Amino acid sequence: QYNSPSKHFQKKDLVIHKAQHLKEKPQKDFAYTFGGISTDYMLDIDYDADNGGWKNPVIKANEPFMLDPANATLQYSIECFEGMKAYITVDKKVALFRPDMNFKRMNTSHKQLGLPAFDGDQMTECLKELVKIEKDWIPDRPMHSLYIRPTSICMDNKLGLSSVKKCKTFVVLCPVGPYYPRGFQPVKLYCDTQIVRAWPQGFGDKKIGGNYAPALKTQRKGHELHGADQALWLLHDYVTEVGTMNFFVFWKNEQGEDELITPPLDGTILPGVTRDSILTICRNKNQFKVSEKPFKIQELMKACTEKRVYEAFGAGTAAIVSPVKQFVYDNVNYEIPIDAQSGAGKLTHEILQTITDIQYGRTKGHQWNIEV
Ligand code: PMP
Repeated sequence: QYNSPSKHFQKKDLVIHKAQHLKEKPQKDFAYTFGGISTDYMLDIDYDADNGGWKNPVIKANEPFMLDPANATLQYSIECFEGMKAYITVDKKVALFRPDMNFKRMNTSHKQLGLPAFDGDQMTECLKELVKIEKDWIPDRPMHSLYIRPTSICMDNKLGLSSVKKCKTFVVLCPVGPYYPRGFQPVKLYCDTQIVRAWPQGFGDKKIGGNYAPALKTQRKGHELHGADQALWLLHDYVTEVGTMNFFVFWKNEQGEDELITPPLDGTILPGVTRDSILTICRNKNQFKVSEKPFKIQELMKACTEKRVYEAFGAGTAAIVSPVKQFVYDNVNYEIPIDAQSGAGKLTHEILQTITDIQYGRTKGHQWNIEV
C-alpha cells in the first residue's frame, strides 16, 4: 500500500489557482544573491493517510502558511528537501538538469522519515508546469538560473512522536546569479578530528533537515580558529564530504597513476547529482583513472607533502565545482595547487565547462538536459 501507484499524485489532476497579485520582477542587471527572492507561485501537494492519501497537486500563490506550535516538523525536524535548477538555454528554451535524480533521492529521504512515496516522473511533470508559469523569472544571463527547492514536511500536530499521518510536499523557486560572480574563489577547509557529520548505518546519505543545522557548529569553529570557509568532514580519518558538497581529489596516487578519487556511496555520503555527473563525464574522457574509493586524510597530507596533488574541489548543484586551496589538520596547513590567475585547476575548469554546456544547451540533445 505504501508504494501503491494508485496512491500517487498525478500531473493530470493538477489544479492551478491564479495569484491575486504578481510581484515586480528584478531589473535586467540585478545582482542576484542566493535565495534572496521567491517567485509568485509554488507547487503544493498535501497527503493525508486517513483521507485517501495524496491529494491533487496544486499550483498557487507562494504565500506564508500557518503551522500549529505542536507541528511535528517544528518539533522533530520531520523534513527533507532537494536542490536543483532550471536554465534558459542558448535556444531560449527552458530546461531542467537531471530532475529524475533529485526525485529519486527525495523518495529515499521520504522513506527515512516515514513520509509516503511519490512517483518521480509525475513530480517532474508537475514541476515543469510550475517552471513554465514562472519562466519570466529565470534570468536569461550567463551562469544565471532558477533554483528549485522541493521540500516535504510533516503536518501532524501532536507532541507525541508517532508515525506520519499528514504531510505536505511543496516546491518554491528562486532566481539566482553565478555562484562566483568574480571568478573562482578557492576555499580553505578545516578538519575537525573529534566531530563526525555521518556514520555507518546512519542517515548521512539522506537530504533531511536534521543533518544540516548541527553541522554548522563545526563550520563556525573552523572559521573562528583558522579562518576556514568550510569543514572537510572526516570519519575515523577517512575523508567524506566538504561542507555541503561531495569531495574530489585529482592526484598522482601511490602507484604513480593519475587518478580522480571521491569517497564511495557507503551510506555516509550524500549521493550528489553533480558527483554522479562528474564521475560519468570523467569516465567518458578516459584520460585518467576515476575511482570511488575510501581514502584517509593522512594519504592526502602525504600526497600534498610529496607534491602529488594536482587539484581538489567540492561538487554540488549551487557552485557545480568549488576549488580547494588549502586544508588545516591538527593546526598544520596543507596547500593544494591552484592556478593563481583563474583560481582553479585545469580539470575543475573543464568539468564546469562540460556541465554548463549541457545545462545551457550548448551541447545539443544531451539526455541530462530535460526540456520543460
Ligand atoms: N553533500 C551534501 C551534504 C549536500 O547537501 C549536497 C547538496 N545537495 C551535496 C553533497 C551535493 O549534491 P548535489 O550535487 O545533488 O547538489
